Amino acid sequence: MIIGVLALQGAFVEHERVLRALGAECFEIRQRKDLERHMDGLVLPGGESTVMGKLLVELDMLENIKERIIQGLPVFGTCAGLILLAKNLSNDGKKYFGTLPVTVKRNAYGRQLGSFATEAEMKPIGKIPMTFIRAPYIESAEEGVEVLAKVDGNIVAVRYQNQLGVSFHPEVTENHSVHAYFLHMCEKR
Ligand code: GLN
Repeated sequence: MIIGVLALQGAFVEHERVLRALGAECFEIRQRKDLERHMDGLVLPGGESTVMGKLLVELDMLENIKERIIQGLPVFGTCAGLILLAKNLSNDGKKYFGTLPVTVKRNAYGRQLGSFATEAEMKPIGKIPMTFIRAPYIESAEEGVEVLAKVDGNIVAVRYQNQLGVSFHPEVTENHSVHAYFLHMCEKR
């Protein structure tokens, strides 16, 4: 299993560590030519969505990646990665890949409660630790989107066909089950 990890900015090294621990091979996507390599799945890490979005356009990678997601490449977006996937942002006029039919609110927990850790159920995995860092949440999901987890009534994890989006950071905990679930999605493809 070969996973490409978008490595323009943010928490990409942490994802690579988890993916390798689970036995996957991974490589970093830093420039357009890295997209020529074979990948069974793609990870969009957390970080700053505005910075990643700007670099994706400047480096001429946005359209190529978007097309591949539409064609079925399994993709896993965490936090800012979820923002990149979202079809709508409720508090920001921007749109990046726009392939995941949900409305996401950026920095949804405000500045004070910007970061926190909790535990909640995620389908079909079970109870897992969840670390939120200036996190978004999903305000609404269109038909066909499966809600996998909620925290305090807000949606924090969804799956839509080949796309998995979570508003927390599973790569910073020692529980690797969300990544294992994603690798399973890549295997099944
Ligand atoms: N607040 C960031 C954004 O809007 C996301 C934070 C994160 O990825 N940890 O892009």
